[in-house]
Amino acid sequence: MKMQIDGKFVEAFNKEFFDIINPATGELIDRVPKGTEDDVAIAVEAASLAFNGWASTSPQQRAGILYRAAGIVRQRKDELAVLLTQEQGKPLAEARNEIEGFANVLEYYCGLASSFHGDFVLIPQNGYAFTVKKPLGVCAAIIPWNMPALIMAWKIGPALISGNTLFLKPASNTPLTNLALASILSEAGLPPGVLNIVTGPGEVVGENLVKSLKVKKISFTGEARTGKRVAELAASGMKRVTLELGGSDPMLVCDDANLEDAVTGALRGRFYNCGQTCTAVKRLFVFESVAEEFIKKLETGIWNLKVGNGMHENVDMGPLNNSRQWEYIKELVTDVEEKDEGRIVTGGKVPEGGAYSRGYFFEPTLVVDVPKDSRLLKEEVFGPVLPVVRVKNLDEAIEAANNTCYGLGASIWTKNIDRARIGCEQLNAGIIWLNQHLKVAPEAPFGGTRESGIGKENGPDALSEYLGLKTVMLKT
Ligand code: NAP
Repeated sequence: MKMQIDGKFVEAFNKEFFDIINPATGELIDRVPKGTEDDVAIAVEAASLAFNGWASTSPQQRAGILYRAAGIVRQRKDELAVLLTQEQGKPLAEARNEIEGFANVLEYYCGLASSFHGDFVLIPQNGYAFTVKKPLGVCAAIIPWNMPALIMAWKIGPALISGNTLFLKPASNTPLTNLALASILSEAGLPPGVLNIVTGPGEVVGENLVKSLKVKKISFTGEARTGKRVAELAASGMKRVTLELGGSDPMLVCDDANLEDAVTGALRGRFYNCGQTCTAVKRLFVFESVAEEFIKKLETGIWNLKVGNGMHENVDMGPLNNSRQWEYIKELVTDVEEKDEGRIVTGGKVPEGGAYSRGYFFEPTLVVDVPKDSRLLKEEVFGPVLPVVRVKNLDEAIEAANNTCYGLGASIWTKNIDRARIGCEQLNAGIIWLNQHLKVAPEAPFGGTRESGIGKENGPDALSEYLGLKTVMLKT
């Protein structure tokens, strides 16, 4: 697989490549070019040269192309899902869901093609002004490996429909689905240079992209630590940034909650995508009075989850995506055992047996009675480990839930409207769910507060992130 620059698939100029490995089997899937500073400069130049032409097309023309691409993606959903499962590890059903999500997001932004226009502003005594919205120019999108197709859509949808050109830097573990989707966009009629992809290490491709003087805006999704580095580099060029960073979402289960629903929500919220979702349930707080019953049900649910190669249709949870994540999760669980940081009720090990021997598998794990200062509550646990804490009441639950540097999502499970209202008001998060967790939609703005980031994706708000607003004052 090659990089896509100026509408052409090209090899790296220095001809160095790196391997893309299947996390379930350890097998080589493909090799991609290790992009260099020169590759970045060439791709940025291509995006820059394509900008005027693309920006002068009508939003409806742009929507026509994106809509056609979404249609092709739907037709090829199954083959794209296989590629995604092979490089990312998630079960096929989740991969199909993500590919559909890509098409949904593109179609949603096509629907907004006629919606971005300026305003007429009446100014008392002095007359009036109007505002004009314009694309920014060359934008950069840097994305992670956990949801490569969906997050690609979150960025290219609003960026392209509003007339910008784009340079996308995929995660080094999962560039293949991004390249396949870019190729479909070209097939659908996207002009050369409008979308460019350079593969290669974040420290080289990512940093040079952020530093490039021709790049006007950076939309980054990834770890908070990397996001801070990106923000630092972007600040010297005073560039616009959207930062979608990590989270440590709390789930609050009150004593009046429907426990069956809450258990289903916790299982999906924590173990979907092997726990590698930014808005996964990463800390669970349950009222003492229902804790025993809830934990028992949760334990049974976890027992029934089938772990294996995502290519097999009956699998509920695939492997972790890479060795770094795998080692991190193993170390965290070892710490729980050695430092007495809670009681492992189920899981806690690398599964044994031939089918597991070459992948990054880990058992879905439930840890209860976790002390407040445990790493499980302080760090972003990006894997299949669910820490549970018993709380006396809602006040204690909210205080514990807010005791984090993150503020991405949070959910409250209750039938009581006052408790729901208090949860919505007092939980520090960019997105709050009532009696559900994890659901996202192209129509609903998404993004965190505090160290979970700056700015929004999805919804009409994401369009503003890619448009400049100019005010024209008229003398009367
Ligand atoms: P990451 O290590 O921060 O990497 C994200 C992207 O940044 C990758 O493409 C990476 O390239 C690139 N990168 C690395 N170092 C860079 C640098 N110095 N300058 C510019 N780019 C650089 O994150 P990850 O491990 O892939 O993803 C997991 C994290 O993403 C979790 O924290 C998760 O919560 C977060 N996430 C947040 C959201 C959200 O919407 N809030 C959504 C999904 C995931 P390489 O792959 O080449 O290193």
